[in-house]
Amino acid sequence: MKALFLRKMQNIGPDSRPLDLLETPIPSPGPGEVLIRVAACGICHTELDEIEGRLPPAFLPIILGHQVVGRIEGCGSGAAHFKSGDRVGVGWFSDSCGACAFCRSGFENLCRQYQATGRDRHGGYAEYMTAPEKSVFAMPDSFSDLDAAPLLCAGAIGYRSLKLSGIGEGGCLGLTGFGASGHLILRLLKPGPGPASLSLPETKMKGALPSNPGRPGQAVRTPSPRKNWMQSWTPRRYGPLWWRRSKTSRQAEGL
Ligand SMILES: [Zn+2]
Ligand SMILES: [Zn+2]
Repeated sequence: MKALFLRKMQNIGPDSRPLDLLETPIPSPGPGEVLIRVAACGICHTELDEIEGRLPPAFLPIILGHQVVGRIEGCGSGAAHFKSGDRVGVGWFSDSCGACAFCRSGFENLCRQYQATGRDRHGGYAEYMTAPEKSVFAMPDSFSDLDAAPLLCAGAIGYRSLKLSGIGEGGCLGLTGFGASGHLILRLLKPGPGPASLSLPETKMKGALPSNPGRPGQAVRTPSPRKNWMQSWTPRRYGPLWWRRSKTSRQAEGL
């Protein structure tokens, strides 16, 4: 099969070609794993972090990619949840210990034995990949392969963040940054009758709020508010989120 391999970490410039298209054997699914024929794989900013070394892969060369849609081609021993031909998706989560307090409370992403697709095992920039069946999702027919792929990372992060915010009817939601998760969150919300206030570069304003009958909100550019805290979602091996005080906040506190 053909696959795109990252062979060494490097800073990306205008002429960079960090991934090499190589021939490699089709992998065999191990116990509890499935073999997937990849139909589409989204591209995520996390892969830039992997290529440039802020989030180093567990081994090199490695096949990146963690927004995968495809069809089951085979099942390893003990994998009985899917059958050949089933349409499935794979996201960033690949495996965890299943026994620690985090795993038992639905926070597998904080498990110390957390394994990520395309970082701790080969991902979906390939014609085929294997994955533990417990991290594979059945995909509804309502999405095309290309439409479904970004939902497996950006969509999942945005939806989960929205749920964790606890926002209710009439609530006011603030978003920092505006990448794939940000614009997908806006498509999950039903704006009120007033204008939505957005602090975005002009290049990102266009299309930030789709105008259709069910979404009357209108994007209005506002100055970026001063922030005292910024939350980074860049995952790290042990501790997937951290907080950084802004310079202004540190100065105000005499730090
Ligand atoms: Zn991602
Ligand atoms: Zn665990």
